[in-house]
Amino acid sequence: MLDDAPAPLVSIRDLKMHFPIHSGLLRRRVGEVKAVDGVSFDVMEGETLGLVGESGCGKSTCGRAILRLYDITSGTITIDEREIGQTSQSALRTMRPIMQMVFQDPQASLNPRMNVEAIIREPLDEHTTLTAAEKREKVGELMDAVGLNRRFAKRYPQSFSGGQRQRIGIARALALNPKFIVCDEPIAALDVSVQAQVVNLLEDLQEQFGLTYLFISHDLSMVRHIATRVAVMYLGKIVELAPREAIYADALHPYTQSLLSAVPEPDPALASTRQRVILQGDVPSPSNPPEGCNFCTRCPAVMDICRTVEPEYREVRPGRFTACHLYTNSDATVDITALPDRATAARGETQPTRRTT
Ligand code: SF4
Repeated sequence: MLDDAPAPLVSIRDLKMHFPIHSGLLRRRVGEVKAVDGVSFDVMEGETLGLVGESGCGKSTCGRAILRLYDITSGTITIDEREIGQTSQSALRTMRPIMQMVFQDPQASLNPRMNVEAIIREPLDEHTTLTAAEKREKVGELMDAVGLNRRFAKRYPQSFSGGQRQRIGIARALALNPKFIVCDEPIAALDVSVQAQVVNLLEDLQEQFGLTYLFISHDLSMVRHIATRVAVMYLGKIVELAPREAIYADALHPYTQSLLSAVPEPDPALASTRQRVILQGDVPSPSNPPEGCNFCTRCPAVMDICRTVEPEYREVRPGRFTACHLYTNSDATVDITALPDRATAARGETQPTRRTT
């Protein structure tokens, strides 16, 4: 690593979050939902790592597990050089100030019985010894920072719009001067007209306070705008991670290619030349994932090996990671729009081959 290269603030290794399934009168354990199943990545200091994938792929669970809102099944989570994967909830208290979360639904995440001042002040009450006057001033500064008028401090959340409520949630997340914030679909519940405002606010705050974000979203256009690097998740696993420019220009994994092909293209000339990749079938259940590659039941480029051997998640080019048998060496490039569809492949007319060039 170069001397001036950013260091990881957050390192996740082989993180698993499995939820037990109980059944019967005795509530016996009959299985488990593998919501997050062996995820590894770093988030560099000052960057925004976008985490994308379909609903139910485990991205929100992953964000919550990293902040230890769950007791994780296994793996390590290192934040600011402290390993917190197995730390007790009481010992985590000292770490809470540096790691915070912005929630998806600002309506549900704000207590309707507390006014704005009390909501933003709550973390200060819990974690600091500031005087009442100091807390009042801090709340005012935070309201200024997120673009809320201080005159609204005594109002209740229900008297604000969705965008303003999200600003309150962001102010609360900033109260303890965090280093790392998990933004869990922070714009998904907002009108399109205010989504860009909130994203711009997050960018401004990142610059102002030197924040590091894990930005979870299914909106690939917004992630393209805000993220430094992008990680793609499918059925509890990261299938590709790369710098933003690389992934949007030349996605490696067939799942990433299909996701990107569905992003609306505003330029009609470009849109008419783009080939849409429509995946067949549903996402398998995370309680019963397929053998081998977990994308093999839907992949347009599936090969025999994919159904039995799980592909290793590894760096196939500098800074580019993927888990796919198509990439047996670092120079491979596969365009799945040029591959036969699964029905054709199933008839044996043409089988995709592993690229080794
Ligand atoms: Fe498709 Fe096989 Fe790659 Fe999985 S390993 S994404 S099934 S080609």
